[in-house]
Amino acid sequence: MGPIPVAIPALSNFGLTHLGTTGHAMADPPQPESAAMPIDATSPYDDSNIFARILRGEIPCSKVYEDEQALAFHDINPQAPTHILVIPKGAYVSWDDFSERASETEIAGFVRAIGRIARDQGLVAPGYRLLANVGQNSGQEVPHLHVHIFGGRGLGPMLAR
Ligand code: AMP
Repeated sequence: MGPIPVAIPALSNFGLTHLGTTGHAMADPPQPESAAMPIDATSPYDDSNIFARILRGEIPCSKVYEDEQALAFHDINPQAPTHILVIPKGAYVSWDDFSERASETEIAGFVRAIGRIARDQGLVAPGYRLLANVGQNSGQEVPHLHVHIFGGRGLGPMLAR
């Protein structure tokens, strides 16, 4: 599947837009998707998901980085001082779907983008963590592949015990 068409101008930094400087009430910022039900990673891609809508420029995001293969933005509900989501521009449900169907160009571009974003954020020396949830047991909420980049403090044990 090819890349989802992206309306570049709409991918502005909503953090700045929404906070503004005037103190006037502005449109509600996008809310995190409901944490109710983890997705089924074996389902076909559903292009109504929130990250597909961000890629199409239908809703804003707090953009960190963008190139031909990847878009990165701040997580709306950060779990660490740095919490960035990196998504491929192609329509892939999860890491499983991406690793099976994506082209070498898409995979190389996506992996390099993640590394570059972490370097640009100054995360290599202090250290950081990557996380990609896949399906039910992981609690994946959004059915478009996303890799979390966490950093900015000691991140504790790898998994909750
Ligand atoms: P996961 O549980 O791995 O599917 O992670 C989904 C992540 O997406 C969560 O950390 C949410 O806080 C985040 N999220 C949901 N909606 C948005 C949004 N509109 N902008 C930024 N992050 C979002």
